[in-house]
Amino acid sequence: MGVIALLALFATLWVPAAAANSWSHVTTPNHAPPEVIGSPAAGCVSGAVILPPTGVGYQVMRLSRHRNYGHPSLIHFVRTLGEALVTNHTGVMLVGDLSQPRGGPTASLHRSHQNGLDVDLWYWLPDVARERHLDDDEVETLAAPSMVNRASQSLDLTHWTSAQVELVRLVATSPEVDRIFVNPVIKKTLCEQESDRGWLHTVRPWWGHDDHLHVRLHCPPGNEACVSQKPIPTGDGCDSELDWWLQAIATAPKAAPPPPPPAPVLPAACESVLHAH
Ligand SMILES: [Zn+2]
Repeated sequence: MGVIALLALFATLWVPAAAANSWSHVTTPNHAPPEVIGSPAAGCVSGAVILPPTGVGYQVMRLSRHRNYGHPSLIHFVRTLGEALVTNHTGVMLVGDLSQPRGGPTASLHRSHQNGLDVDLWYWLPDVARERHLDDDEVETLAAPSMVNRASQSLDLTHWTSAQVELVRLVATSPEVDRIFVNPVIKKTLCEQESDRGWLHTVRPWWGHDDHLHVRLHCPPGNEACVSQKPIPTGDGCDSELDWWLQAIATAPKAAPPPPPPAPVLPAACESVLHAH
């Protein structure tokens, strides 16, 4: 083999750590003690655990994406929440993305969910999920209904009921939860309707999130390489910050967030997680 051919071979073998495709093509976690590395938007997870497709009080959607992996603390959180939803007769939740088997950037626009501590939960708690497991086709194609009427900037009360409030409250008051992201209209409604607003501290307004809420856990104890987000300002957040968000989503074209920042550089330790066996 000539030098040129050898160089060409090495060129095809070299995979940059931050390339989304290499992370999304890995189908298994690496074998290592569980460890969160980096932040939700620039990180990975070593020794991740799979969330089984179905369990008490939950069902994972879009299984073909292979995004039902996370740090064991996240898997434990989802399972415990599912059990609580059944115990108090709230319903059975549909679970969206967690992380890829080793975390890292995804091939789609989803920018966080990289370090095994984020999970999306649909607000919709369909009756059918109480009665049976969804079939493969439903898991891939059922759409999450929006809870927000964009024209009136209010909640769609055909979908938003006390069950949705209970889901958000259970998540927001779980001690391992750092913060959750919801549509600003949802936050506004909770601010207006909840007599005890103490638990609204962890409920953060963000773009989109009208058909699912996004949960982010605290860095697990002892995970020195885990990068925490800036602490949330004190208070319930039912203030001028929320007013800013309501104005922003009302005036943004199609409620689109600003363009995402350039792809982040992952911590060097993620390189070995990606390439480990
Ligand atoms: Zn999310």
